Amino acid sequence: MSSTVNTFLKVSEQKAFDVEHRRKINFNISKYDHSVEKGLLQFDNLELARKRAHATKWKVIENLDRYLLEFESNFMRKGGKVIWANNATEARKEILAIMKKANAKMVVKSKSMACEEIELNEFLEKNKIESIETDLGEYIVQLLGQKPYHIVTPAMHLSKEDIAKLFHEKFGTPIDATPTELTLKARELLREKYTSADVGISGGNFLIADSGSIAITENEGNARLTTTFPKIHIAIVGIEKIIPSIKDLEMFWPLLSARGTGQNVTVYNTILSGPKQSNESDGPEEMYVILLDNGRTNLLAQKDQRQALYCIRCGACLNACPVYKNIGGHTYDTTYSGPIGSIITPHLKGMEEFKHLSYASSLCGNCSEVCPVKIDIHKILLYNRRDAVDQNLNSKAESFGWMMWKKTMLSRKRTDMVSGKWKNYFMNTFFKGSWGKRRELPEFKIDSFSKLWKSKNAK
Ligand code: SF4
Repeated sequence: MSSTVNTFLKVSEQKAFDVEHRRKINFNISKYDHSVEKGLLQFDNLELARKRAHATKWKVIENLDRYLLEFESNFMRKGGKVIWANNATEARKEILAIMKKANAKMVVKSKSMACEEIELNEFLEKNKIESIETDLGEYIVQLLGQKPYHIVTPAMHLSKEDIAKLFHEKFGTPIDATPTELTLKARELLREKYTSADVGISGGNFLIADSGSIAITENEGNARLTTTFPKIHIAIVGIEKIIPSIKDLEMFWPLLSARGTGQNVTVYNTILSGPKQSNESDGPEEMYVILLDNGRTNLLAQKDQRQALYCIRCGACLNACPVYKNIGGHTYDTTYSGPIGSIITPHLKGMEEFKHLSYASSLCGNCSEVCPVKIDIHKILLYNRRDAVDQNLNSKAESFGWMMWKKTMLSRKRTDMVSGKWKNYFMNTFFKGSWGKRRELPEFKIDSFSKLWKSKNAK
């Protein structure tokens, strides 16, 4: 077993028994559930909206090359610059080159999972460039030296008391400060950063092909300040975020907000189409979009799993997942956690090391049910498991066990030949480990099924 799996299993066990962790997550997810119930009421026909969103993403992912080129040419027409990055190293190199050219010492960042994916903060720090998270949740986890716990709500694992304590220790605010007081303190600390930062870095919720724009959705207004105050704006966006037309936002924005946070529409939705134009007073002088592959084309090549690229990162599948709710976001130790992380990470970062995530599921299907773009998440988990077996990535003992199982089960004669005692021995030898120490293995009767059947009918 690789060290990644061992760590995952060990931390999962600790978290599953951490009652305080469970209390906080249940509390925060129950508030979320309540809001989503109301948010979804805005749809007359939610199922139809989901089907349309699925079809739109199908069209765009099946023609990804064409739509990305359309985006590129439209964005460049307005003075924007597009950089294609095959992987994290290329993306970081390009970002550093822009920073060096501008002699940048400080950047402000708005929330971006693509930046997490390329470990941008750590990279900038190593290059002596200060990087400040401006989303409140991201700012809190940055102060704690942690990674985001959740793709939408990075500090979901913390209570308001935890955050008050953190701010008390770092900034001397009262230990019992209210959420409003804490937010005001963060705002006061961050405001001056926007005006003094050399570069603003963001992600992007959508890349819009026909208008050559990126769309950013947020609730705090920090992304607007990040992308407009500094002289340079760099957006790092995964290539799968593309949608064909600006008109599609009327469908995707409500789906994202309703499932993401339970709002009818998120507070700030910004469309950015290049740097400041000569007749405009606001905006950056230079704007770059880094189109990030970083394993996405590996996923694109898998016809059964490709639809995982339709994801709009609403986070709903995480909140719906019984495994996520028990083991928490940090346990996955990946940028994308929960069901969506389990299906994409083996393709983004390697099947061998991350195949275990596709087994971290009860296959209840709740994730697929809530997904606003109707991704068959639980089926993709099975396809990943199939691929892991096809690539001989399972242990020899497990493969041997299944081979014997299949041979026996396909023949009544062979099934009856082996006594219950041997079957139990076989199960205990080959399956006990994967079955888990907290579950009892099913026990075979000593007599075969045929024998039991016969004696039952004889009575
Ligand atoms: S897979 Fe679906 S539910 Fe999960 S984050 Fe993506 S869009 Fe949301």
